[in-house]
Amino acid sequence: MSFGAPYLTLPEFTYHKPKSLKEALQLLNEFRDEAKVMAGGVGLIAFMKERLMTPNHVIDIKDIPELRSIEYKKGEGLKIGATVTMSELEKNDIVREKYVALYQAVKVAADPIIRNRATLAGNICEALPWVDGPVPLIAFNAELEIMSINNVRRMPISEFIKGPVEISLEPNEMVTSIRLPDLPPEAKSLFMKFNTGSEFALATVAAYVLDSKKPRDIRLVYGAVSTKPVRAYEAEKIILSSRNISEAIVLAAEKASKEIDIVSDVLASEDYRRHLVKLLTINVLREIFEVS
Ligand SMILES: Cc1cc2nc3c(=O)[nH]c(=O)nc-3n(C[C@H](O)[C@H](O)[C@H](O)COP(=O)(O)OP(=O)(O)OC[C@H]3O[C@@H](n4cnc5c(N)ncnc54)[C@H](O)[C@@H]3O)c2cc1C
Repeated sequence: MSFGAPYLTLPEFTYHKPKSLKEALQLLNEFRDEAKVMAGGVGLIAFMKERLMTPNHVIDIKDIPELRSIEYKKGEGLKIGATVTMSELEKNDIVREKYVALYQAVKVAADPIIRNRATLAGNICEALPWVDGPVPLIAFNAELEIMSINNVRRMPISEFIKGPVEISLEPNEMVTSIRLPDLPPEAKSLFMKFNTGSEFALATVAAYVLDSKKPRDIRLVYGAVSTKPVRAYEAEKIILSSRNISEAIVLAAEKASKEIDIVSDVLASEDYRRHLVKLLTINVLREIFEVS
């Protein structure tokens, strides 16, 4: 990942490796704006090399036992600790069988070497418009658990990401886990991504449907097309009120491609992205509803 700056070396900083969550939160509370949390370091180290971030203190959270686990409880859902890597999620049976859109997103993110280091929480906190993780998570209505030394709060990921590299986090707070609600057996989800060999996707979609025989709930979320993940609420309504699902899918895809905010950038024009949104919507919904 390069943003074009010529630096190859890291700036000077003090490295901290706390052994407990309490110790990490104390360090964050002490150094605040001067500190950055490091999980996998995939994004942070690149940002530091390019002088896009120059923290005086780096707090490496990888050795904190409380942040390492993936836990599923029936009726409660899935809890993913802040240092769980994308590879660990890819190998997890519950993620693969139940949270299919998330499984598909982590499986195609970057490459196996990066997935062995990169965490899902770091992917969200990076808040780059083209990252894959937040898109299925928003489709699942996932929340973050956020802690400071004297507070714990929960926040939907859809509200946490405010814009490119802009998140709703105080300087003394860190993300400790990602929480996904439990899903009914009739829930279905899928994730699809379009890129052209670059590490940056041009458009992604995650769809969540309950249930595909008679839709009662649906969420359509798009990534890499705007400054942050966006939902197509009007398109969702078309599916919920449909009598003929094959026709409704095409209408919903057209609506989605028109209703959401889409940007032009060096990777693709707005028009091209609108076209991709339409195609991805058709593909993802046809697969979920098993129609052609
Ligand atoms: C070559 C390459 C290809 C890539 N391809 C893809 C791709 O296809 N799809 C994709 O989605 N991503 C891709 N990425 C991005 C990569 O997945 C992210 O950089 C990675 O997920 C970040 O996770 P990390 O654990 O390394 O975070 P870090 O680098 O440790 O942190 C990233 C940012 O989040 C903050 N942070 C991390 N954890 C926390 C926390 N718990 N609380 C508060 N703040 C925190 C850090 O302070 C930093 O600002 C690619 C990256 C590279 C280098």
